[in-house]
Amino acid sequence: MRVTLLGTGTSTGVPMIGCGCRVCTSTDPRDKRLRVSALIESGATKILIDTSADFRAQMLSQKVRGLDAVLYTHYHYDHIAGFDDLRAFQFLNLQVPICYTNQETFDVIKRTFGYAFGGAVQSGGGLPNIPFEIIGGMPLTVGELLVEPVPVDHGVLSIFGYRIGKFAYLTDCNRIGAASKEKLKGLDVLVLDGLRFKPHPTHFSIDEAVAVSKELQPAMTYLTHMNHDVLHSEAEEKLPANIRLAYDGLVLNLE
Ligand SMILES: [Zn+2]
Ligand SMILES: [Zn+2]
Ligand SMILES: [Zn+2]
Repeated sequence: MRVTLLGTGTSTGVPMIGCGCRVCTSTDPRDKRLRVSALIESGATKILIDTSADFRAQMLSQKVRGLDAVLYTHYHYDHIAGFDDLRAFQFLNLQVPICYTNQETFDVIKRTFGYAFGGAVQSGGGLPNIPFEIIGGMPLTVGELLVEPVPVDHGVLSIFGYRIGKFAYLTDCNRIGAASKEKLKGLDVLVLDGLRFKPHPTHFSIDEAVAVSKELQPAMTYLTHMNHDVLHSEAEEKLPANIRLAYDGLVLNLE
């Protein structure tokens, strides 16, 4: 299984529009962060986590020609904004994914993109015709992969992380309950929210993420969803050897 981190930035992306700070103007490519998303490939199976606000650029850079599934984590704009661009797969008769969401996320997608769900005034440009499946906490199968939803808290929201084999992806969270911690044992790789060093009400800070990683003990942890307070080279020096900062384009190979 191969995981490509397509974006590792917070909701604004890095650089942030209008900002001249040292991270936003850094020439280190690892300080350029698109909105978070991950591509998981195993054999012929392709799964995308979230259609980010940078979905189009991410699909073009990876030359993706169809998807089996999109696993949505939650309904915040940075995670759903690319939904309409799934149309491209329809236009070219490529594999259109089944989108897996909880009820709450589906309701917001339906409201945000109402024209794709029977509310169109006109349809000259073609409308997204994308199947959805509502999921609870039960595991699901996509191609050859077994996907286990892992509920985590993102402020007052309960959202989904996902575990596939010995890989888990937990973006946008600041608390993991005991039942979910049970589901996160024995990981080879954990991708985990680590917004910045300063505490935040809905995201793990980097120090909090380090504490979670030490508790769950995956072989490797990569932090994601970072904002423009985090200079890659400087921040990574402060971390233990088995906890690294993710960056856009990072490829993780798993057994
Ligand atoms: Zn987010
Ligand atoms: Zn900045
Ligand atoms: Zn969020």
